[in-house]
Amino acid sequence: MPQHHLRCTARIDQAQAVLRAMLDHLHEHELSATEHDASWLLDYDGARITFRCEPDTLHAELVAPSQEILYDARMLVHHHLMEFAECGPQDLQWEGDSLAFERPPAFRLLTVDRVHDLTPHLRRVRLRGNDLARYQSQEDIHCKLILPQPGIADPEWPTLAADGTPRFPEGEKRLDIRTYTIRCIDPSQGWLEIDFVLHDDAGPGCSWAARAAVGDQIGISGPGGRTAKPAAWMLLAGDETALPAIARIAEGLTADTRGTVLVEVQSAVDEIALPLPPSMTLQWLHRGEAPAGTTSLLTDAVRALEIPSGSASRYAWVAAEFTAAQTIRSWLRETVGLNNKEQLVVAYWRRGMDETETKSGKRQQKDRPAPVGASS
Ligand SMILES: Cc1cc2nc3c(=O)[nH]c(=O)nc-3n(C[C@H](O)[C@H](O)[C@H](O)COP(=O)(O)OP(=O)(O)OC[C@H]3O[C@@H](n4cnc5c(N)ncnc54)[C@H](O)[C@@H]3O)c2cc1C
Repeated sequence: MPQHHLRCTARIDQAQAVLRAMLDHLHEHELSATEHDASWLLDYDGARITFRCEPDTLHAELVAPSQEILYDARMLVHHHLMEFAECGPQDLQWEGDSLAFERPPAFRLLTVDRVHDLTPHLRRVRLRGNDLARYQSQEDIHCKLILPQPGIADPEWPTLAADGTPRFPEGEKRLDIRTYTIRCIDPSQGWLEIDFVLHDDAGPGCSWAARAAVGDQIGISGPGGRTAKPAAWMLLAGDETALPAIARIAEGLTADTRGTVLVEVQSAVDEIALPLPPSMTLQWLHRGEAPAGTTSLLTDAVRALEIPSGSASRYAWVAAEFTAAQTIRSWLRETVGLNNKEQLVVAYWRRGMDETETKSGKRQQKDRPAPVGASS
């Protein structure tokens, strides 16, 4: 198979310390480099990245089996160097194969094919598009939806800036970006489905879904994010925004998996059928008239669980509003003693803040670095 190559030379202060901080960060996101002959080797979704340092220069060599994978690896290096070396694109010199893309290669244009409500507050939208195979991942089940402003008949989709990063239109044609879970996908038939929570205080994601009609277009980028690791005993917990991920994770569990599923919704009409192994119990938590993100129902239910002791194979996956996620994460780590390989607790949204505000200033909360088009 032909290989594609790029080299990056970055003139930065304290290159060794920057590389160390960057590799530590990537390691936290399950991307581990190995040391070999004074170089660090990192495998990233099919690409091999080799880092080497001189006192004030960091070299990165990228090799990938396709231009698309090479681009993703380039963006990984680019964004992490910008962040950890606090440098600008002008400090990075790229040489090698030219990347002939008009748009970020992860970008796909999707057209609404079908809209139907699973419950009064959960709307499933089937979206059709070409070349969706990269979105069929068992590990990276999340994506970024790229949403035009309402009433814009001819949206402008992202292009690429000279440094290879995605460039988004501004002004009335600006695009909003929101994170969702790919609930189902069939690339051979050219479709994927997203389940949208129709929530109060609707932002661009929810509003788009509320008015979605056959023929409407949106963009997608990704995939990214992390998901649960299979274990003999599993906890899957969250509010309605986590339902698509819980359903997808549950579909992948073996029939002998034991454990508990906890889901907070408004009321019984918001419950849906979940494909669970027979030895997993399911508990719906109804918050009634209390606004989403204001109760301790989920936290209390998690605290009341009997979680198997440390010698058992166990895993907890939780996604919920920021405050609940923080409380549950602390409890699972500090009181139950689950280590990083035994739990993943993610804030899917934050009450009173939109997604852009929630992410700003929260570098340490990001998911596993996603292939960039419009990623986190
Ligand atoms: C990895 C990941 C996967 C996700 N998957 C899904 C998914 O499959 N389906 C899904 O519906 N959501 C999902 N979410 C959550 C979704 O991204 C957020 O709810 C997002 O804020 C929705 O965007 P918006 O434009 O509707 O609202 P925003 O513009 O982001 O926010 C507007 C206002 O709405 C409030 N708000 C946001 N979400 C809710 C809510 N659920 N209930 C009440 N108020 C809310 C905000 O606090 C803010 O005040 C996921 C989030 C992450 C991080």
